[in-house]
Amino acid sequence: MTTEFDQLERCTICPRTCRTNRHEKAGALCKAGDHIKVARAALHFWEEPPISGEKGSGAIFFSHCALKCVYCQNKEISTGGFGLEISPERLYEIFFELKEQGAHNINLVSPSHYFALIAPVIKRAKADGLNLPVIYNGSGYERVETLKDLEGLIDIWLTDYKYSSNQLAQKLSRARDYPQVALEALKEMDRQNTLRGSDQYDGAGMMKQGIIVRHLILPEHVDQSKKVLQIIYDNFGTRLKLSLMSQYTPTEVNTRFAPELGRAITKDEYEEVLDFADDLELDYFWQEGEACKESFIPSFDTTGVLNC
Ligand code: SF4
Repeated sequence: MTTEFDQLERCTICPRTCRTNRHEKAGALCKAGDHIKVARAALHFWEEPPISGEKGSGAIFFSHCALKCVYCQNKEISTGGFGLEISPERLYEIFFELKEQGAHNINLVSPSHYFALIAPVIKRAKADGLNLPVIYNGSGYERVETLKDLEGLIDIWLTDYKYSSNQLAQKLSRARDYPQVALEALKEMDRQNTLRGSDQYDGAGMMKQGIIVRHLILPEHVDQSKKVLQIIYDNFGTRLKLSLMSQYTPTEVNTRFAPELGRAITKDEYEEVLDFADDLELDYFWQEGEACKESFIPSFDTTGVLNC
């Protein structure tokens, strides 16, 4: 593993590989500097059942993001950069505070641009008795080299596979290469997971290690969702657990970039994607009822970030 200093001095942590010296200025796309920044650290109950369970997932929401999704539900922190800078020592404390609160796991939400800083903290916490699964909860837009640096530190990959179309990836996330990059990243996650013995659950059905691939279905884009499922099937067969999400929430800002995003997905659109997944015999979680509610979005109010 290269040193933390080296990685931030000429940053190539994410696929943007912008080579910014983050000790001097913020990353070109991610806008992250050389300190970990967090918007919220608290129990979270809206992940998939084997992640949230009864007691909640210990979710740590990191500020900033290198992917620029026009429909991001966490824009306040991803683009707005809301959050507080904390030390690696404070992150270490947060891990154990969440454990004390009863969290089933430590859920690192959008952590990739900070991994040079986070990885040593995970390593130390595990050595000091943090016996909870550590979850990487990200966009899927990852560099394989960075994922290799994390080998042995991540127990559960909760990762998106957003697009099959380069044009759509460019239009909605400013990342034309997303489909290929995310596929290579997923292959690396699968390699690491397979080496460790593949998906495992405890007696209560909570995931201890494994992969869940999330896909958010967008209005008017059912065909590309089906292509995403086909790509997953062609590359991994039916062995990956999926989460097919209907919770897309329209906001005023995203319709400026893509008018079709001005509504939630319809029941028919959702069922068409689920039917296709059934035809491929894929194993997936699905969402019931009105998932497109802002109540699924937590308050980013720095809860749990400082030790006061
Ligand atoms: S993490 Fe940020 S600074 Fe590093 S390569 Fe990506 S966009 Fe650039």
